[in-house]
Amino acid sequence: DYGLAPEAPGPALDWLKANGGKFGHFIDGGFTKPGKTFASINPANGEKLAEISDGTKADVDKAVKAARAAFKDWSQLSGFERAKYLYAIARQIQRESRLFAVLETLDNGKPIRESRDADIPLVARHFYHHAGWAQHIDKAFPDHVPYGVCGQIIPWNFPLLMLAWKIAPALAAGNTVVLKPAEFTSLTALLFAQICARIGLPKGVVNIVTGAGETGEAIVNHPDIDKIAFTGSTEVGKIIRRATAGSGKGLSLELGGKSPFVVFDDADLDSAVEGLVDAIWFNQGQVCCAGSRLLIQESVEEKFIAKVKARMATLRVGDPLDKSIDIGAMVDPVQVARVQDLLKQGAKEGGTVYAPDGTMPEKGCFLRPTLVTGISPAHILASEEIFGPVLVAMSFRTPEEAVALANNTRYGLAASVWTENINLALDLAPKIKAGVVWINSTNQFDAAVGFGGYRESGFGREGGREGMAAYLKPSWEKALKATPVL
Ligand code: NAD
Repeated sequence: DYGLAPEAPGPALDWLKANGGKFGHFIDGGFTKPGKTFASINPANGEKLAEISDGTKADVDKAVKAARAAFKDWSQLSGFERAKYLYAIARQIQRESRLFAVLETLDNGKPIRESRDADIPLVARHFYHHAGWAQHIDKAFPDHVPYGVCGQIIPWNFPLLMLAWKIAPALAAGNTVVLKPAEFTSLTALLFAQICARIGLPKGVVNIVTGAGETGEAIVNHPDIDKIAFTGSTEVGKIIRRATAGSGKGLSLELGGKSPFVVFDDADLDSAVEGLVDAIWFNQGQVCCAGSRLLIQESVEEKFIAKVKARMATLRVGDPLDKSIDIGAMVDPVQVARVQDLLKQGAKEGGTVYAPDGTMPEKGCFLRPTLVTGISPAHILASEEIFGPVLVAMSFRTPEEAVALANNTRYGLAASVWTENINLALDLAPKIKAGVVWINSTNQFDAAVGFGGYRESGFGREGGREGMAAYLKPSWEKALKATPVL
């Protein structure tokens, strides 16, 4: 329904009720009895949505055992057989897309327009795409084999999409998985688990264990897990890298970012403003590749900042289920406080903080779109990942200066360059150290294209051929078969 009436939460609330409002883990094809639980809260109004089980070491162990037992048959199925399951999952996601979208919005606070038009369609696309890979895997990777049991840990900003990025390639390659969603946003992962059961996915191929950091630690440290794939903060990524060092486990890390959004004076400024809105205010700025550092050529700085401010004044902050809302709720009060604290520190360091007036909801985790000017690269807001609706702006004079500023970060996930001079754009793109450089566009994702970072943004790619390779390891046996030694 693309009308403007607010999306009704009813069906999603009914689904929660139908499950008793309390969830166990999904292990070996079925749900466990809920153990110790914690509440999952709707950040837009503070209401409790459900009780989620807090996974223990014993729960993780049970899930790993189920995944290990399932691995033999699953990895020996033909690629065509595995593809059938992935296609079935994709179709079910499309069938339940409305329920998924509303549940995601209730649990995470993101505008329904985004969960409906971005998150869930991209999830279905990811499973369809990887069903294709499953069918071609023997030809594409003739001398590789799956890792075995993969432990996967994901963040709360794109709950179901991050699950899809992890589970689809792992299964296509023949691995089995134990996945932990973020503690704030487990609901769509649990609905996904029901879909796995519904389509008859063999028991133990997908296991979902809910919980917080300690549950994640139990996955990272489990001796019978062959590979860890983590998306989340750089801080936790470093802990995981240390914890897995010397363990022989495979590892891929998708971490934080502080991506530059570079605007030259010859750019179509109105298009650049629209791109910027998408780059920094999509998902309340809680996006790893958010274009959070605006670098603007000095000659158009004043004009461009005026346009940005005018556009900011039109952004509507409010009930995420309202289809006309641009900015929904932050994921939880701790994130709101973190962003507010960073803004205070930024103001103390001399930044000029601007946020438009405009009505705000009376309760819930809401923040206004915010712009900080008058800062230098050494400023805290220019270097720290804010992970909220806060844009910082700095200016440059020459393309060389733009590149130097763009690369003046410990991250390297994404970048966006705006100019009508395509030669300039193509010259700059390889000079910017980022996993992706978008030209006159932003936030373009596709299941067929590897996404990932440099430096403290992590390593490994998700999507495309590189994303498949991340779930496979070389096999001497297969290599010898492929190229017999005389
Ligand atoms: P986080 O690191 O706090 O948590 C991520 C996940 O790790 C959660 O499931 C959490 O429960 C778990 N976890 C926490 N401590 C752990 C530990 N010691 N051992 C194992 N697991 C542990 O991150 P977050 O706040 O949920 O997510 C925001 C971060 O994720 C941002 O920095 C963002 O840039 C990053 N992110 C990156 C990408 C990417 O593709 N590069 C995508 C989305 C988000």
